[in-house]
Amino acid sequence: MPLILKKGEGAATLKLDQPGGRLPTKNMVIVVAFGPEIQTYIENEGHKACPRPVGCGHCGAVGRMVGHGSYRRKPKDQERAWWIRVRRWLCQVCRRTTSCLPSFLLPWRHYRVGVIQGVLVRRLEVEGSWAEVVAGCSQQGVPALRTMQRWVGALADQATDWLLAVLAELAHQDNKSPWLEPRGPTALGTSPTLTAAHSLLLASLDLLAWAKSRWRELAGYGVADRLAFLGHWGHGRRLGRLV
Ligand SMILES: [Zn+2]
Repeated sequence: MPLILKKGEGAATLKLDQPGGRLPTKNMVIVVAFGPEIQTYIENEGHKACPRPVGCGHCGAVGRMVGHGSYRRKPKDQERAWWIRVRRWLCQVCRRTTSCLPSFLLPWRHYRVGVIQGVLVRRLEVEGSWAEVVAGCSQQGVPALRTMQRWVGALADQATDWLLAVLAELAHQDNKSPWLEPRGPTALGTSPTLTAAHSLLLASLDLLAWAKSRWRELAGYGVADRLAFLGHWGHGRRLGRLV
């Protein structure tokens, strides 16, 4: 399944080559970058702009994807929620579906990816206490502490696989990357998974820097968008869940 990035209206799509995947699922998700603003997506009916996938990511059939309506999702941040529509395609061969998720969301999570990134960075990179994370990232209990802790735990669970994939990409593309060197434990302790999660957040900066040097469509992507970009990149490679 190609990774498709679409930044703004009329922008060229971007497809990154990737190896054969894993994780067969009934519904597949492709991530499409419509820019960071949910309101813009709603006003422009962004789900209608989702490009039709050329091939089926489940069975590989080409040219057999047909529209299959859309479904509603309710993304939110600390202050409000939105109703949006997510486009869906059906493969006429294997009858499985592919959804077209805008890049401000991660599969399986309700919060905007920017909110999730803020929590992960404050906890894993800045190495803040949970009290500091709550003070900096939560408003009147939104997101809940338990929710934020689940995000950190989920990233830690996935980080080793994702980090290896990112390092392999950087080694292949840019052998000057400093993250090819082993990293020591952080102040969060010696947990290998938390260390991997921390390293993954840092390596995502290198991944984005490399990608920006290669695809000018990513010119608008900054440090605050690195988790969103990492999600695009990894889902295009079927790395599965990130957070
Ligand atoms: Zn199919």
